[in-house]
Amino acid sequence: MAGDHVSDGTATDRRGIAELLAAGGRSYSFEVFPPKAAAGERALWETIRRVEAAAPAFVSVTYGAGGSSRTRTTDLTERIRNQTTLRPVAHLTAVGHSVAELRRIIGRYADAGIRDVLALRGDPPGDPQGEWVAHPDGLRHAAELVELLKASGGFTVGVAAFPERHPRSSDWESDIRHFVAKCRAGADFAITQMFFRVEDYLRLRDRVAAAGCDVPIIPEIMPATSFDQIRRFALLSNAAFPPELARQLEAASGDRAAGYRIGVDHATAMGERLLTEGAPGLHYITLNSSTASVEIHRNLGLHRAAPALTTV
Ligand code: FAD
Repeated sequence: MAGDHVSDGTATDRRGIAELLAAGGRSYSFEVFPPKAAAGERALWETIRRVEAAAPAFVSVTYGAGGSSRTRTTDLTERIRNQTTLRPVAHLTAVGHSVAELRRIIGRYADAGIRDVLALRGDPPGDPQGEWVAHPDGLRHAAELVELLKASGGFTVGVAAFPERHPRSSDWESDIRHFVAKCRAGADFAITQMFFRVEDYLRLRDRVAAAGCDVPIIPEIMPATSFDQIRRFALLSNAAFPPELARQLEAASGDRAAGYRIGVDHATAMGERLLTEGAPGLHYITLNSSTASVEIHRNLGLHRAAPALTTV
């Protein structure tokens, strides 16, 4: 199953993400975030080094809701570019930025040789469910950021996709129409929001294909290793949680190793089925701890040079 693709998009495959996917290759990638405090740096860099050994197509760096967390994203993305063999993909959100500020950030990436950006609208800072208000000199939708990046030249651009539709979309028809608009604006690939039922991904993919759009949609894999953590994330992302998995995790509450095993097994099974169904790769959320995501990648037979995994 894992070996049935044209190319594996590893770090040794120096083609860009767009070229890799367009040639029918699969893209395997990991997501990290810039830690708030120095204490998180060690875990982050241990994660980056383990992920590097797995030779993924790219590693993506999330963009904070505001303030100094945003420069941490640009700093970290540049550091990954300069100090590792990994290809960094910088998340960039439009929220709270004027177009002039966005242009400056894009220029900084271009100067640093970073050519891959995940273009997002972002959520209102503070309360992600609060009212969305565009910056007076800013952008209103991710499609406009895709256009800005493409007009800046030379960028490969990814966008977000929502297997259970975006929480603010009133219906599927408008959700798919706006997703397709992002693709028509120039997006080269999409990464989904986390989800826990493969059917949700397949339905989204079919709806997008029926709308005449063939932009590759890479499913995001979030290992559900703890009931409390997943309840928090599922609330934020609106992801429905399979009752059986919730029951198992709840029963394992307090037993970290048991929760870990349940989450890794479920995510491995999801990854296997997604690839069998033709998904163009997998994007693992690491939460700056590579253990579960790297183990899932290895379980799927995709790991190149697996480092020893000793901790949970
Ligand atoms: P859009 O595509 O602009 O869509 C937002 C809503 O507006 C949707 O309901 C859409 O249907 C609607 N819409 C779009 N265009 C129009 C239009 N022309 N007219 C009317 N309605 C329209 N957030 C962060 O802050 N930092 C991150 O690093 C980050 N990374 C993410 C990574 C992934 C893979 C995903 C899936 C999400 C990520 N997010 C991140 C969250 C994201 O910013 C939010 O989900 C945000 O609410 C939506 O962003 P979007 O880019 O999909 O917006």
